[in-house]
Amino acid sequence: MTGVRNSLFLLLFCGSALAAQPWKPDDGPSEAEIDAALGRSPPTPSGMPSTPSITPSGLAIPVVGIPMARLTDTFSASRGGGARRHNAIDIMAPRGTPVVAAADGVVERLHASRGLGGITAYVRSVDGAWTYYYAHLDGYAPGLQQGQRIRRGDPIGFVGSTGNASATAPHLHFAISRMGPADRWWQGTPVNPYPLLAGRMASR
Ligand SMILES: [Zn+2]
Repeated sequence: MTGVRNSLFLLLFCGSALAAQPWKPDDGPSEAEIDAALGRSPPTPSGMPSTPSITPSGLAIPVVGIPMARLTDTFSASRGGGARRHNAIDIMAPRGTPVVAAADGVVERLHASRGLGGITAYVRSVDGAWTYYYAHLDGYAPGLQQGQRIRRGDPIGFVGSTGNASATAPHLHFAISRMGPADRWWQGTPVNPYPLLAGRMASR
């Protein structure tokens, strides 16, 4: 009987104690999510240099702080059950690492989908002959807009895992396409970025 009364007392006491607590917001969006929504940049992971590596091909490695030696050639890997070829390389890096333009160009299309690429950017070279594709971004660099002229090394966004990337393995999916004069942003012929970025021929 005493036990029951004690439990009742505890229940009432704790109930009133909870009620007396000042109002606190419940689990809303995290600070990072709010920052992303407002277009503010998340902090750069510590120890990361702030300038990209320029490779002998003249392209910048589009993830800041990643040296050539850390790149792997996954261009010909199969995706989505075997039939589909990757046609890109995946550059692994911590979430929030800055993604920068591999080359000069014009931001042709900023496209966000729940599907394959997630938050993506298509940048076409000024002569129209090449498209550089950046996918699985955590978000765009503040102020990035379609039609904007950008230079090699300019901010595109941040490494993430949007689209069909694994949440536990954030990376930049980076592709290069050779564009015909009539090709739209999603078209073109895939070219392996690996030898261009890693400074050596791809293993075949
Ligand atoms: Zn990929």
